Amino acid sequence: FLETRGLCKSYGSGETRQNVLRSMDLSVGKGEFCVLLGPSGSGKSTLLNIIGGIDQCDSGSVTLEGRQLTGLSPALLTRYRREELGYVFQTYNLIGNLTAKENIEVGEYLSRDPLDLGELISVLGLEDHKGKLPSQLSGGQQQRVSIGRAIIKNPSLLLCDEPTGALDYETSKEILQLIQDVNRKYGTTVIMVTHNEAIQNMADHVIRLRDGQVRSDRMNAERLSAMELEW
Ligand code: ATP
Ligand code: MG
Repeated sequence: FLETRGLCKSYGSGETRQNVLRSMDLSVGKGEFCVLLGPSGSGKSTLLNIIGGIDQCDSGSVTLEGRQLTGLSPALLTRYRREELGYVFQTYNLIGNLTAKENIEVGEYLSRDPLDLGELISVLGLEDHKGKLPSQLSGGQQQRVSIGRAIIKNPSLLLCDEPTGALDYETSKEILQLIQDVNRKYGTTVIMVTHNEAIQNMADHVIRLRDGQVRSDRMNAERLSAMELEW
């Protein structure tokens, strides 16, 4: 579904040049809940941003469903981001003078084939909060809204960069569970960066980075056998 081959990225030049991604090869299957772990500075966000088309690699390729993203024109890249990609960050980036429901609807306008808004609000557990402004919501509730905004357009790929980084332990667990519910219910492929090691039991696929390279790449055995059964 998604493949990177020989992905390289560096910042700076001369003496200050830093190789952030050093020939990164990875493959993520359709419908997978894939988690990226690794120390700070190992290149997780850089990788996610290149997959998400908001940063460019120096060499190598990113292929999504057989289409090479690295060669797309700016117009097609924008369309890819708009129609096929959902992005969730550590900060919620909600619009302050719109209600929870209206913030989710912002994502809906970008789609030709959105999910059912009422149903999604119930999946998100926001029925009692949909009329509130972001300032009237807790951090966890705001993150639910931002997940809703990313997912309402029914993207084929959801990228999450430390979605629970600003949340306490219990709320983090709920948000991780919600992302897994979305993955299972809507079949959205998820690639998530997190520091939460507990996620390993929930994920289908765990990739560890170190110094811009893949240190380990492991499929969850249970999920593997489930996928074989589906075949
Ligand atoms: P963290 O867990 O702290 O979020 P990360 O694995 O996401 O870390 P990246 O954000 O991908 O790490 O950064 C990898 C390296 O690239 C870091 O050393 C960082 O300083 C550097 N870097 C990232 N973005 C830029 C930039 N725009 N300009 C220069 N250096 C950058
Ligand atoms: Mg990061």
